[in-house]
Amino acid sequence: MDLNVKLTILERMVEIYDRFVSEFDLACEKYCAHCCTANVTMTTLEGYRIIANLEKTGETRYLETIARKSHPDRFMPRVSINRMADICARDGDPPEEHLNPDAGPCPVLAGDACPLYPARPFGCRCMVSARNCGETGFADMDPFILTVNDVFLQHVEHIDAQGYTGNFADVMQFLESDENRKNYATGRLGVAATGLVANQPVFVLMIPPEHRERIQPLLTQIRSIQV
Ligand code: SF4
Ligand code: SF4
Repeated sequence: MDLNVKLTILERMVEIYDRFVSEFDLACEKYCAHCCTANVTMTTLEGYRIIANLEKTGETRYLETIARKSHPDRFMPRVSINRMADICARDGDPPEEHLNPDAGPCPVLAGDACPLYPARPFGCRCMVSARNCGETGFADMDPFILTVNDVFLQHVEHIDAQGYTGNFADVMQFLESDENRKNYATGRLGVAATGLVANQPVFVLMIPPEHRERIQPLLTQIRSIQV
């Protein structure tokens, strides 16, 4: 699939998701950034979109900030979400993941605001809560939103099936290289760089039985995206 087509599908998915989540009463607001941690993950497609936006706005200095401030103990996934769904559907044992909740803030967070906000990845976009996480210590998320989040994350990986998933900082540092970006744009990526894992298409969606009917209109919207 052509890169511009993938980017357009991603934009449409963002629109669908933002419409969906706007129907919930959420505590999320500007300068509330307890969820902006060094452990956010994303796909190469989302990283490419962020860098394209930074180039447009002349703010590529954030790439240097990421390289300088990325936390040594940031979360690095061992499998992508679609691989995880696949392993679980086959009753396999997914690898144990190591996540340090004290890895600190996202390297680009500045004054409790996100300089990449319009192009932020789904891992950030779908982090929402009915109550302020700073007061509760955890995100209070409607179980249906959790299911919808998984479905969107799975579809984003699906359209980037030839790319990688990794920690936000690792994907950004990988794509900071002109050569890697060019190879990505032309669909010629080789083996995964350190810290990144290969994406794969959706084989099974992680939808619990109680949400199968309710999620159908959203699935129809995602599957009806025309580019
Ligand atoms: S998810 Fe929690 S920390 Fe993040 S913006 Fe919403 S309320 Fe604030
Ligand atoms: S990219 Fe932006 S929204 Fe995502 S964790 Fe970093 S500062 Fe927060």
